[in-house]
Amino acid sequence: MFGYAGRLLHVDLAQRRSKVEVLGEGFCRKYIGGNGFAIRLLYDHSPPGVDPLSPANPLIFAVGPFAGTMVPTSGKYIVQAKSPLTNLMGEAISSGFWAHALKWAGYDAVLVKGRAEKPVYFFIDDDTVHFIDAGHLWGVDTIETMNRVKEEVGGWDVEVLAIGPAGENLVRYANISTDRHRQAGRTGMGAVMGSKNLKAVAVRGTKGVKVSDLEGLMEACRELYEECQGPYAETYRVTGTPASLLFHQTVAALPTRNWQDAVFEEAEKIGDKYVGERWVVKAIACAGCPIACDHLTLVKDEGGEVLASVEFESLYALGSECGVGDYPTINRAVDLCDRLGLDTISTGVTIGWAMECYEKGILTKEDTEGIELTFGNSEALLEVIRKIAYQEGIGRLLSQGVKRASEIVGKGSERFAMHNKGLEYPGYDLRGLKASVLGFNTSTRGGCHLRSSMYDYDLKGRVDRFTAKEEYGRLVKEREDLWSIFDSLMLCKFIRGILNTPDQLARLYTLVTGFETTAEELQRAGERIYNLEKAYNVREGWKREDDYPAPRIMTDPIRSGVAKGAVVTKEEFDLMYKAYCRERGWTPEGLPTKRKLLELGLEDAAREVGVPEGV
Ligand code: SF4
Repeated sequence: MFGYAGRLLHVDLAQRRSKVEVLGEGFCRKYIGGNGFAIRLLYDHSPPGVDPLSPANPLIFAVGPFAGTMVPTSGKYIVQAKSPLTNLMGEAISSGFWAHALKWAGYDAVLVKGRAEKPVYFFIDDDTVHFIDAGHLWGVDTIETMNRVKEEVGGWDVEVLAIGPAGENLVRYANISTDRHRQAGRTGMGAVMGSKNLKAVAVRGTKGVKVSDLEGLMEACRELYEECQGPYAETYRVTGTPASLLFHQTVAALPTRNWQDAVFEEAEKIGDKYVGERWVVKAIACAGCPIACDHLTLVKDEGGEVLASVEFESLYALGSECGVGDYPTINRAVDLCDRLGLDTISTGVTIGWAMECYEKGILTKEDTEGIELTFGNSEALLEVIRKIAYQEGIGRLLSQGVKRASEIVGKGSERFAMHNKGLEYPGYDLRGLKASVLGFNTSTRGGCHLRSSMYDYDLKGRVDRFTAKEEYGRLVKEREDLWSIFDSLMLCKFIRGILNTPDQLARLYTLVTGFETTAEELQRAGERIYNLEKAYNVREGWKREDDYPAPRIMTDPIRSGVAKGAVVTKEEFDLMYKAYCRERGWTPEGLPTKRKLLELGLEDAAREVGVPEGV
């Protein structure tokens, strides 16, 4: 095959064995790659009801058909497993040369099962898989681990992904790092690695990848590379995602002090202009990306020099969400999270909740062991991050994520725990973004901006952001399916303004793979992948109420700014949700029907979770 390696690597950690399974054309075309491969494998290999931190929970890494080729922004990999944070489908995407290396080594995906008796990492060296003791790396931070593994197995052409102490200590939102500054952040995939005693995965690939129409692809990519230097991607190139912070402030959509406010009085001090003039030192790119949106900041102070990659979500979560308007602290907090292996969004939102609990007297100084856990307290923020990673003191509670922590603490704190399905929300105040509130909460992985990115509609004035409408159901469904295609081809969503129609994607897919494919076939595959994720969640116990927004979004109107008074009522949400289910061909309660699953070629899911129509 072209584009695909056509091979899945099975790894059994308990036995320290591996074997290869051939992936046929039918499988590849039906599930595209990346996201599609991962959810198909997760559905097939995950025992229903499996404990996410048990050896039986399969851990899947997958790349797309464009990985290893010249297609811009295609250096992405996905990792999936049942999430220890949500108890539903877990999923995180990141960039890295690791993705290209895996394809060049001759694999589209790796399926890891079991638990190693002792800490281990494995090294995929083209066709050979080596298992190497990692006892000496246990407790070592992510950056140091990646460097040392590279040295140990032989050098510059080895790519490594790794967990830090947070993953080892089973923090439920631990992440996975590659290329120093890139993280597969969400839903606790690092904890799943830690539960398997798996510290790192190293890859050397030397085989390359063949594409079907090299000349046609070169021509198409030349145009894409040129457009990436044009006006659409300018903000990403010049300032990167931190530009969103002051924009969200202007439209009163910047969650502040655990979503008590939607504007932050210190936003200017952490905004892109102020930070850019003082601390940005370099723009860097993910593997194979001509945009280079990642703007590194170097802060030198009495604590030493800290170089970090601070994108918008981290600025929000460790900044306005925690009431911190001191950029050097945010820079240090991001570096700490990255080294310890913690998802910055979940970390910040969980700490923001704890700060509100503390200020309301729900958590006391006794609970925090003397830490003054108030909003804006920079020292407390840094100290608590470290405690979370090592499960010390208050960190033990907060390592559970905001949903579990609030259920443990009770006293009404569940009402301001800002998550959906257990996944802490990113930095978009949803009360004044009514298309987004639907898309962020129907998301199969929990509260997420990247499963439909409906803020494109709300924030660019394409819909009336203050009015709930049935038509948002269709828009969310279409976007979710399109994003399933993106995440299966494994393209960065920041190229969406340039490469965004199913026709364009189908043409590129045909040039790479040689499979004549129409936009409709690709859209059908996207819909199939999304439905399979939903079927997986239903099988694992998803319930209708799991899709409601956090209570605060439906009860506490925004207090100031241009969105003052905005709130999402239950009636508004139900109106949009029912319309969404209709568009999906599901029951009004959000359950996939047998008919829809069969229509998409998901016979096993239809049999196991499909609901007869009219029920
Ligand atoms: S646009 Fe940014 S996040 Fe996307 S691939 Fe390029 S550097 Fe990475």
